[in-house]
Amino acid sequence: MTDAATLIAAADTRFATKQVQASYVAGRPQNTAVPPIYQSAAYEFANLAEARDLFALRKAGNIYSRNASPTQQLLEERVAQLEGGVSAVAVASGQAAVAVTILALAGRGGHVVAADRLYGGTVDLLQDTLDDFGITVTFVDQDDPEAWRAAATDRTRLFFAESVANPVAQVLDVRTVADIAHAAGVPLVIDSTVTTPYLQRPGEHGADFVVHSATKYLSGHGGSLGGVVVDLGSFDFGADPERWPQFTKQADRFGPQPLWERFGQGFAFATLVKAKYVHDLGPSLSPFNAHQILQGIETLDLRVSRQSASAQKVAEALVAHPAVAAVHHPGLAGNPWHDLAERYLPLGIPAVFSIDLVSTGDEAQDQDRVERFVDGLNVVRLVANIGDARSLVAHPASMTHSHLNAEQRAAAGIGATTVRLSIGIEDPADILADLEQSLSAI
Ligand SMILES: *Cc1c(COP(=O)(O)O)cnc(C)c1O
Repeated sequence: MTDAATLIAAADTRFATKQVQASYVAGRPQNTAVPPIYQSAAYEFANLAEARDLFALRKAGNIYSRNASPTQQLLEERVAQLEGGVSAVAVASGQAAVAVTILALAGRGGHVVAADRLYGGTVDLLQDTLDDFGITVTFVDQDDPEAWRAAATDRTRLFFAESVANPVAQVLDVRTVADIAHAAGVPLVIDSTVTTPYLQRPGEHGADFVVHSATKYLSGHGGSLGGVVVDLGSFDFGADPERWPQFTKQADRFGPQPLWERFGQGFAFATLVKAKYVHDLGPSLSPFNAHQILQGIETLDLRVSRQSASAQKVAEALVAHPAVAAVHHPGLAGNPWHDLAERYLPLGIPAVFSIDLVSTGDEAQDQDRVERFVDGLNVVRLVANIGDARSLVAHPASMTHSHLNAEQRAAAGIGATTVRLSIGIEDPADILADLEQSLSAI
């Protein structure tokens, strides 16, 4: 087939086929079947006229790998297709993806309305580093529509939330929050790291941008850091041009036309992120890591469906264990987010959830029991990560949420005996047996 015919044929395929094939045409002259790693810092121009066109953004192409590499661009196109999006930008980490997305949307002195159940790195970014630069945040109870509505001001430029938070696995009502964001004239950005485009595509529920830590499920092997932001092409920055000067006003560095006129809906955002924020701040994804993430994505649905099924099984079994006080898994009847899970996660619940060990009422004794449980595990490993092929355990109060005080932790649903699990692809019987033997020994 011709290159164009191959791409058109691939665009018409289903999720599992896209994971493996989307956007890749075997290269000439080496015609490698697997996308190669283009490990080059820079690219050679045919002549000076071409270099001039590329630098002026008149022509698309490779210049220098801080801006983009071909391996990275393939990853961007593949994730955009899996999300049903229009364009994407891949960067060095999930943290970088969240940062460049907020910087590009918030602009100078913008305001963010954010869910109060977010990844710790995002909380630090919003309330500390971005605050230093004059971008402010209001955190709201993510389950309270009125709180979202009341927090929006003239300065608000985006709403931000996670589709499923952790460690307590609260499921977001994406459609409700998206409608409130749009009524306030701003886009909804969803961090969908935990759900992956296999379990949920936030764009189908009204979200406008999706960010991922590709370090987690997209990779699945725990071998590389990476992050991606996808523009779903739904938000019209041209509808209120005064509010979005970064897109609608001419800027000398991008030539005579505003980005919105030149690149349009679905593409102007990615151009701004790459040509300004990634170019100026430098959080570029290495070609090697882009390749590792692409390799991971090829098995995304296989891994996630197995992990999700195993986690459901483990959660159901642990409910009955005498050493367990609570299992925070929205796949269980009676969980406060069970109805939302049925509506938003029909293919399965993410495999990241937590359990509370029975408390003795004595702080020192509880700590000792948590320690014996965590240290007594053999199959499930003590690692500060999620979405890995391996099953992982973490103790939020000692690790990810250790800088919060007891009150803040309680507000986030995290107690002294809360233990987070990220169920891997091992045999679920081995995972469960390991958890049960360690629980019984405490
Ligand atoms: C890990 C994580 C991030 C940050 O991603 P890194 O790749 O570690 O920088 C952001 N959001 C969520 C939900 C995460 O789990």
